[in-house]
Amino acid sequence: MCRHLAYLGPEVPLGRLLAEPEHGLVRQSWAPRRQRHGTVNADGFGVGWYAADDPVPARYRRAVPIWGDAGFADLARVVRSGAVVAAVRSATLPGADGEAAAAPFADGPWLFSHNGAVPGWPESVAPLAGGLAPGALLRLAAGTDSALVWALVLARLRAGDDPGSALAEPVREVAGVVPGSRLNLLLTDGRAIHATAWGDSLWYLADRTAGRTVVASEPYDDDPRWSEVPDRTLLTATRTELSLTPLKEPTP
Ligand code: GLN
Repeated sequence: MCRHLAYLGPEVPLGRLLAEPEHGLVRQSWAPRRQRHGTVNADGFGVGWYAADDPVPARYRRAVPIWGDAGFADLARVVRSGAVVAAVRSATLPGADGEAAAAPFADGPWLFSHNGAVPGWPESVAPLAGGLAPGALLRLAAGTDSALVWALVLARLRAGDDPGSALAEPVREVAGVVPGSRLNLLLTDGRAIHATAWGDSLWYLADRTAGRTVVASEPYDDDPRWSEVPDRTLLTATRTELSLTPLKEPTP
């Protein structure tokens, strides 16, 4: 599956978060330490970041492994941001979607990433696709399980749901229809992070004094302040606040 990370805090070069830490996302792409499914994350990668005074983030996504992209190494050295989402991908199924299937997915101010898989995709989850507007299906970001989950989340955001329930409800719906789904989701608008732990590892590092919060599939260093999020939990955080809420079991 993949590994992902979200950061809110003082502006830093992207590389400080992703490349410099001993076990950062770049290294996690070939040597993750806590990944429960899959071995390497070499099916593309993506980074999304916000600039001050612009609510719409920029993205850089590629279909190649993150370690082989010299353009990324260059960008990561000089691009600075105080709100970042990044992911390295291990595809659930072989496909030709390339960078379109690499998280983060985006819409307006939102960035979204899914670490996990929906077994039996696409047939298993077809009953839920019927609940989406036809336009949403035609505009699916890629032909992957993760893009469908994003469409379910986005439909709720557009309907005015708060971001926490826009993540939590699709998790319950998908897990209800396809038990065994792994649904670690990550959503941000650059001001708050919303994330679910459902089937794979999720950790956070909250440094309230520094006004810095990192939420990641796994710790990128051995700082003792990293804490693991219990499975089946919704995490909501800003730079200075963090709360954990147990997620309800799905209704079959
Ligand atoms: N379901 C994802 C995909 O195929 C798997 C990668 C991930 O964990 N994001 O793209």
